[in-house]
Amino acid sequence: MENLKLAIQKKGRLTEKSLQLLKNCGLEIESYSERLMITVRNFPLDILFLRDDDIPEYVQDGVADIGIIGKNVVVEKSANVSIIKNLGFSKCELLIGIPENKDLNDLAELEGSTIATSYPKILSEFLSENKIKAKIVEISGSVEITTSLGVADYICDIVSTGNTLRMNHLKKSFSVFKSEAVLIASERIDADQNKTSILADLLKRISSALNARYSKYIMMNVKKDGLAKVLQIIPSLKSPTVLSLASEDLVAVHAVIPSDTFWKISDDLKEAGASGILLLPIENMIL
Ligand code: ATP
Ligand code: MG
Repeated sequence: MENLKLAIQKKGRLTEKSLQLLKNCGLEIESYSERLMITVRNFPLDILFLRDDDIPEYVQDGVADIGIIGKNVVVEKSANVSIIKNLGFSKCELLIGIPENKDLNDLAELEGSTIATSYPKILSEFLSENKIKAKIVEISGSVEITTSLGVADYICDIVSTGNTLRMNHLKKSFSVFKSEAVLIASERIDADQNKTSILADLLKRISSALNARYSKYIMMNVKKDGLAKVLQIIPSLKSPTVLSLASEDLVAVHAVIPSDTFWKISDDLKEAGASGILLLPIENMIL
């Protein structure tokens, strides 16, 4: 039977995180350097490495069955594919960037201006939703320099930290589109029972890996008289586990917590009588 074919970006911002997600799904992936395709050893999946711009069309045409790609690219290419899962990584935003010395207080001020972007479709939809008429100049790269060259009044580009904007004497203005990596699937896959069932298995593993990503396992010893306080502090998903220890005045407390809360609660825990606090990663989590 045929393997499911997954397309991911060959070399770029999505590559490492896409591979990491697959590894967290328990897939054994050999080193792939410079190869166009590899087969996963312990799962019926072939991985194709492609330019990200080509992925929506390859999935649409059934060259690949599924793909991992930025939502910005899927929407811009308007390929006939379905987004079946948000993957929560490579989050970024398409923003209007304006020259440092200008102000843009209201979207309506974009009326009649010229805006340079690599995302003409997303931008024109945004403008028409907001009933604004502006000229769009399509540029394939280095959009940030167009305002200083006098090619455009404003830009619309992907921004995460804003450093590239600052280097080009631009600043952030209105948000146009929020993106993250998504899993897309070809519509043809529904007709193939074998591939549909491989995909269902993969999706189950992806959900479990994504659930685990934001959680950590915390363990600590707690003085019995501080236990009530400690249990109040721990933002546990379920009730924490309390275990007795050889030493009579101590208990061990284990819990699953959201990763980002650890540094907020660690001092409070110590103050309430916790010691030997350990924080461990969780690989998978089935809720
Ligand atoms: P390719 O050579 O495959 O065409 P590319 O240069 O078009 O690559 P990258 O810069 O690697 O693409 O970006 C891939 C995707 O990563 C983008 O489409 C977007 O979804 C996301 N991305 C882009 N910039 C950022 C950022 N600063 N932070 C997080 N994610 C980003
Ligand atoms: Mg690209």
